[in-house]
Amino acid sequence: MRLRRGPHQPLPAEPDCAQVGAVLQAYLDDELEAPDTEAVAAHLAHCERCDIEAETVGRVIAAIGRQRPDLDAGALERLAGFVDGLADEDPQG
Ligand SMILES: [Zn+2]
Repeated sequence: MRLRRGPHQPLPAEPDCAQVGAVLQAYLDDELEAPDTEAVAAHLAHCERCDIEAETVGRVIAAIGRQRPDLDAGALERLAGFVDGLADEDPQG
């Protein structure tokens, strides 16, 4: 089963790396519900890999925002989806 990025997928109390990655952008945008924010923060605190990914994604979003202040949130979201696609290639496009 292939899960698509959704606006508010509830997380278990101890999400795994894939689950954290799926909501990372929403977490960085402070769009998650409080329990999910806590679950992601707790994961990042003990998972170096996801912590690095969170920092990298945050820097990319910040850098794009600085270079293209005219881009709206929708454009950033589409770009973020494109980046996600690179990591999760779908042969059916
Ligand atoms: Zn992790």
